[in-house]
Amino acid sequence: MPDVVVVGGGIGGLVTALALHRHGIGVTVLEQGSGRRELGVGLNVLPHAGRVLDELGVLDRVAEIGVRTAEMTYAHRLGMPVLRRPVGIDAGFALPQVSCHRGRLQRLLLDTVLERLGPDAVRTGARVTGVDPGRARATLATGEVVEGGVLVGADGIHSVVRDRLFPGEGPPRWNGVAMWRGATDWPAFRGGRSMIVAGGNDAKLVVYPIGPGSRPGTVLTNWAVCIRTGEAGTAPPQRQDWARVADPADPTRHAHRFRLGEIDHHGLIAATAESYEFPMCDRDPLPHWTDGRTTLLGDAAHPMFPMGSNGAGQAILDAEALARHLATGPDGATALAAYQDERLPVTSEVVLRNRVGGPEQVIDEVERRAPDGFDRLADVITDEELETIFSGYHRVSGNTR
Ligand SMILES: Cc1cc2nc3c(=O)[nH]c(=O)nc-3n(C[C@H](O)[C@H](O)[C@H](O)COP(=O)(O)OP(=O)(O)OC[C@H]3O[C@@H](n4cnc5c(N)ncnc54)[C@H](O)[C@@H]3O)c2cc1C
Repeated sequence: MPDVVVVGGGIGGLVTALALHRHGIGVTVLEQGSGRRELGVGLNVLPHAGRVLDELGVLDRVAEIGVRTAEMTYAHRLGMPVLRRPVGIDAGFALPQVSCHRGRLQRLLLDTVLERLGPDAVRTGARVTGVDPGRARATLATGEVVEGGVLVGADGIHSVVRDRLFPGEGPPRWNGVAMWRGATDWPAFRGGRSMIVAGGNDAKLVVYPIGPGSRPGTVLTNWAVCIRTGEAGTAPPQRQDWARVADPADPTRHAHRFRLGEIDHHGLIAATAESYEFPMCDRDPLPHWTDGRTTLLGDAAHPMFPMGSNGAGQAILDAEALARHLATGPDGATALAAYQDERLPVTSEVVLRNRVGGPEQVIDEVERRAPDGFDRLADVITDEELETIFSGYHRVSGNTR
C-alpha cells in the first residue's frame, strides 16, 4: 500500500509527489489525463513558490522553459502607467519570478517525478469517480480501488474529493467575467521580461512573455482578455473548462477597448492560432479541508480568481507544507490537521482578496475614478494608496523578501 495517494497530477499534485519523495514518503498519483498534452497557457511562479521548487531542485529547469520576469506594469486601459514595479530578482528577492507555459511546466514536473520516483509513481488515464475519506480510498472509473495511508484531493476546481467532503456545495461561483486566453510567438517588448495588466473592473488585458520564441527576436507571449459579460453570482454561460477552444472573433471584438502603445495587441491576438475561453470562477473558502486521513490541496481546496499570480503558487506552497507535516507528524490524521491549520487561513484570505481584485485593485480604483484617463496620476490616486494595495496583497499571500 502506498503511503499517500494523490488524486490529480496537475501542478499541485506533481509538486506534492516531489516533496513527499524528498521526505522519503511513498506516493502514487492518479491522473485522469495522459499527462502528455501541454494544456493551458501562461502562469506565474512568484518567489515564495519558487523557493519550494528551488529546494526540490527544479527551479532552474522551470526558469529555462520560462522567462525570469523583471518588471510588472499596471496601466489604465488607455495605456497610462499606474504602477510599475520590479519583480523577482530585480526587486531584491533571492529567487526569480518565473512566467511560463502551464502545460510545459506540468510536463517538466511529470518527467521529474517519473525520473526520481519511477514509472509507476503516476498512473495516467486513472479517473477517480468515488472517494471514501474515512478509509483514504479512491475508486477509479474502472472500478479498481486504490487505498493509501493518506488521500489527497489535488483534482482541481471540479474536485470529486471536495464534492465527497462537501456534498451539495454546487458549481463554482462566477464573477460575471469571461476570459479569453492564448499564447503565440511575438516580437519581444521592453526587453522580453515585462508583464503588463491594463484596464479595470469591466475590461482587462494582460500580456506577458512565457518562454523563448521559435524565431530570433520573438518570445512566446501570453495574452488574456477579461470582459464583464454577466452578473456576478449568476450561473456561468458554460462549465469552467480550461481546454475549451474559443471563437477568435470574441476576444478580437473587445480588443479595441485597450490602447497599449508599444504592444500591438490586435496583431498578437490575430496571430494566435488557438485561444481558450472560460468563465472566471472561484469557490467560497471552506471551514475545513481535512476529514481524518483525507485532505484537499491546490485548486481543489481554494480555487481563486487569477489576480495576483497565486493559483499555482499557493498549490506549490500547500505541497511543501503537507509533505513537511506528514514527515514530522505522529500520524497521518494529526499531520493533515496541522497542514490544514497552517494553510487554510492564508489561502482563504488570498481567495477573498482576489475577489476584490487582488493587486489589480490599483487599476480598478484608478479606472473607477478616471474612466477616460488622466494627465497626472497624482490627481487620481496617491502613491500611499497604491503601495497599500500592492504591498498589502503580497504580504497576505506570503510573497515577501
Ligand atoms: C488543463 C488545465 C489548463 C490550465 N491552464 C491554466 C492557465 O493557462 N493559466 C493558469 O493560470 N492556470 C491554468 N490552470 C489552472 C492552474 O493549473 C491551477 O490554478 C494551479 O496550477 C493549481 O493547480 P492544481 O494542481 O491544484 O489544479 P489543476 O492544475 O487544475 O490540476 C488538477 C489535475 O487533476 C486532474 N483531475 C481532475 N479530476 C480528476 C479525477 N476525477 N481523477 C483524476 N484526476 C483528476 C486534472 O486532469 C488535472 O491534471 C489550468 C488547469 C488545467 C487543469
